[in-house]
Amino acid sequence: MTTTLHMCRYCDGLITDPGDAVRIAYEDGMSGPGRIVWAHREHAHLVTPDPRPLALLARIRARRTGHPGS
Ligand SMILES: [Zn+2]
Repeated sequence: MTTTLHMCRYCDGLITDPGDAVRIAYEDGMSGPGRIVWAHREHAHLVTPDPRPLALLARIRARRTGHPGS
């Protein structure tokens, strides 16, 4: 049995349950085949058509580190 794990575009988390993975987009590869963009079922509607990965990542990292005093 082969299970391919996907990363959620919205929360950057691993989608461990295949039934919880939703295909939201397809990205062309720079070289070679493109790849499917996945998201958790409950996060799929939160991903905008024009995501800003860098801004999103920065926001997520800021939230995870949770620096006090900000
Ligand atoms: Zn998610």
